[in-house]
Amino acid sequence: MRDPFGRTVSYLRVSVTDRCDFRCVYCMSEDMTFLPKKDVLSLEELDRLCGAFVRLGVRKLRLTGGEPLVRRNIMWLIERLGEHLKTGDLDELTVTTNGSQLEKLADPLYAAGVRRINVSMDTLDPGKFTAITRWGKLDKVLAGLDAAEKAGLKIKINAVALKGVNDNEFHDMVAWAGECGYDLTFIEVMPMGDIGPQRSDQYLPLSMVRAQLQERWTLEDLDLNTGGPARYVRVRETGGRIGFITPMTHNFCESCNRVRLTCTGTLYMCLGQEDAADLRAPLRASESDEAVERAILEAIDRKPKGHDFIIDRRTRKPAVGRHMSVTGG
Ligand code: SAM
Ligand code: SF4
Repeated sequence: MRDPFGRTVSYLRVSVTDRCDFRCVYCMSEDMTFLPKKDVLSLEELDRLCGAFVRLGVRKLRLTGGEPLVRRNIMWLIERLGEHLKTGDLDELTVTTNGSQLEKLADPLYAAGVRRINVSMDTLDPGKFTAITRWGKLDKVLAGLDAAEKAGLKIKINAVALKGVNDNEFHDMVAWAGECGYDLTFIEVMPMGDIGPQRSDQYLPLSMVRAQLQERWTLEDLDLNTGGPARYVRVRETGGRIGFITPMTHNFCESCNRVRLTCTGTLYMCLGQEDAADLRAPLRASESDEAVERAILEAIDRKPKGHDFIIDRRTRKPAVGRHMSVTGG
């Protein structure tokens, strides 16, 4: 699939649920209203829709959410999608998770063909972890990471940089990730969805994180382009890799290779834009996949050139109305 700007779309992120067992302060408000069941695609429908994307040329699938691993029977879907790895139609199947279910699901994930996972963890301090996630327990996630490592999964930690919250821990996190052999990616807070407290207060530009890290570590630029907004460095002292995801301060859109599907079958062509295509109606209208494939191609034809994220300090309104848990990041 090629978009109007000549970019090949080969990466689909699928949010399999908008629900979550955490309530991270930058992601959700405490009293979220979730989607009614009838609006959410069944696992069979998600499987069918992902199959259509794979036929059209998607080579990499990432399941996200909400928390993907709390959806009931999610392993059924993951095993089905893993079949595309066996036929060679798909190169990679990955998951972004908060880690709460990894203790029990790490082995089944590996067995289904998953080889790498992203685990979101913003702090190494148990009290702070519960303050950020509201409902999470750090112990449980650390036990999940252990299980994932034992299962053979390669781990990348995602940490959102939060002013006044975890900005005194970046050195410790780099040392810890280096010791464990995990990649570590820092993410800037993005203005998505109404969450209550003011996001402009949480925002910490990663240029400052990088400057702080350089006081202690030797960061060597890596020439690694994954088609996304991350820039990577190698930490000479630990040998570990660190990524910086800077949607607010950099323009990465020219190499964008991805689109995002929500659990209601809405396709967002850009994380930072409102334009979307409904794939649920064509999917449910017919048993054949012809109409839905046509709808996918029409949507790709509308993929915008880039986003226009901005944290507006005057109106204090999010740039994009939907929460990150809708599209999964
Ligand atoms: N529940 C899973 C998790 O936490 O990894 C998957 C979904 S979560 C929405 C995906 C990623 O988005 C997480 O790494 C989370 O930290 C990040 N995220 C959520 N809201 C964000 C925001 N407003 N700005 C930046 N990153 C955000
Ligand atoms: Fe849940 Fe992930 Fe959002 Fe945290 S970031 S509330 S774990 S979806």
